[in-house]
Amino acid sequence: MIKNCCKKCGSLKFIKNGFVRGLQRSRCQECRCNFTNTKRRGIHPTLRAFGIVLYGMCGVSMYKIAKLFGVSNVAVLKWVRKEADLIEDVPPHAESKIVMIDEMWHIV
Ligand SMILES: [Zn+2]
Repeated sequence: MIKNCCKKCGSLKFIKNGFVRGLQRSRCQECRCNFTNTKRRGIHPTLRAFGIVLYGMCGVSMYKIAKLFGVSNVAVLKWVRKEADLIEDVPPHAESKIVMIDEMWHIV
C-alpha cells in the first residue's frame, strides 16, 4: 500500500475531503492541495534528471531518450525546457562586440 501523504509538499497533516472516482480524497492542511492515495504520476525524478543529462551532455536525441524511458518526445522536450528556464541568463561581457560575418550575426 502507498503511504498517504501530500503529493505536493509531503505533509502528513491532511483531512478527508470526499471521494473522487471511488477513492478517498484528502486535502493537505498546509498547502491546500487535494490528493488521493494513488501512485504518483510521471517518471521518477532521478530518471528525468538522467534523461536531461543524456540530452545536454551526451548529445542523445530527445526521440532516443523518449524511447529509452517509455515516454513521449514532447515530455522530454518539456523536461529540457523546464530545466533551461531555471538557468540564469549570463549578461554579456563589456568587451563583447557584434561582428557580421557572411551575412550572419555573431557575438564575439
Ligand atoms: Zn501539502
